[in-house]
Amino acid sequence: MTSPTPRETMEFDVVIVGAGPAGLSAAIRLKQLAAEAGKEITVCVLEKGSEVGAHILSGAVIDPISLNELIPDWKEKGAPIDTPVTDDRFLYLGPSGSLRFPNFLFPPLMSNHGNYIVSLGNVCRWLAKQAEELGVEVYPGFAAAEVLYDEKGSVKGVATGDMGIGRDGKPKASFTRGMELHGKYTFIGEGVRGSLAKQLMARFKLGENCDPQKFGIGLKELWQLPPEKHKRGLVVHTMGWPLTDDTGGGSFMYHFGEGLVSIVRAAP
Ligand SMILES: Cc1cc2nc3c(=O)[nH]c(=O)nc-3n(C[C@H](O)[C@H](O)[C@H](O)COP(=O)(O)OP(=O)(O)OC[C@H]3O[C@@H](n4cnc5c(N)ncnc54)[C@H](O)[C@@H]3O)c2cc1C
Repeated sequence: MTSPTPRETMEFDVVIVGAGPAGLSAAIRLKQLAAEAGKEITVCVLEKGSEVGAHILSGAVIDPISLNELIPDWKEKGAPIDTPVTDDRFLYLGPSGSLRFPNFLFPPLMSNHGNYIVSLGNVCRWLAKQAEELGVEVYPGFAAAEVLYDEKGSVKGVATGDMGIGRDGKPKASFTRGMELHGKYTFIGEGVRGSLAKQLMARFKLGENCDPQKFGIGLKELWQLPPEKHKRGLVVHTMGWPLTDDTGGGSFMYHFGEGLVSIVRAAP
C-alpha cells in the first residue's frame, strides 16, 4: 500500500543505520573529530530494536584495543567492562568426555590475555549514552526500511517504514507515515545480512571480486549459576561432539558478571 501523504523529512550531516558497536563508534568518532576541528555536525543513529542493545545477542570476549583509542577513560566513565579473562581453555568433546588442548598450541588469535568478557548489549547501551552526551541523536524503535537516492543515483538517506498498517494492507487508526532522514553521508551499520546493505551490495555491485559470504547458525543461552559453580573470568571453547568430524563449528562458554554464563553452540 502506498500512502498519498508525503513523508516528513529531517536533514543531518550523517545518518547512521544500526546502533551496534560499529554504528555507535562511528557516531562518537565523527563527533570527536568535528569537536577537534571546532565544527558542529549533526549525526543521528536509527536502531530497529525497541532499545539500544535489544538486538545485540553476543555474550562476547572483547579486545579493548579499539575502545582504548575511542574512549581512553572508559573505566572512569563506568563502561560495563569489568570481567577480565582469567583462564582460557580449549576442549575437544567426545560423547562421554573431553580432551583439553594445551594453551601453547593456540594461535595468537585464540589467546584472550588482556581481553574482557562482556554483555555486548550492555556495552552498546553504554556507548549510546556516550554518543548522546556528545550530541548524537539516537532513535531506538525505528527500522530504516528503504534507501533513498537522489536524481544522480547517489544515496541521500533512508526512510523508516510506515507503521499501523492492518493485515488487509489498509491503514489502521494508529497509522503513522514513515520519516525520511537525509544525510550528506549515510553509514550502514546493520551488522550481518542487513536488509538495506543487501540492496546496496546488489545495486552498486559491492560483492564483485569478493569471496562469497559464509553464514552459520548458533543458539545462545544466558545462564545464572549458583556461586559455587561460577568461575568468573573463565573462557571455554570447544569443538567436536555432537558435530561430526567433517562439520565445522563448536561452542563457547563465558563466565562473567555476577554468576552469569553465556553459552553458544554454532555450526556453519
Ligand atoms: C553468537 C555470537 C558471538 C560472538 N562473539 C563475539 C566475541 O566473543 N567477540 C567479538 O569480538 N565478537 C563476537 N561476535 C561478533 C560481534 O557480535 C560482531 O562483530 C559485532 O556485533 C558487529 O557489530 P556491528 O555494529 O557491525 O553489528 P551488530 O552488532 O549486528 O549491530 C547492528 C545493529 O543494527 C541494527 N539494525 C540492523 N538493521 C537495521 C535497520 N534496517 N534499521 C535500524 N537498525 C538496524 C540491529 O538491530 C543492531 O542493533 C559474536 C557474534 C555472535 C552472533
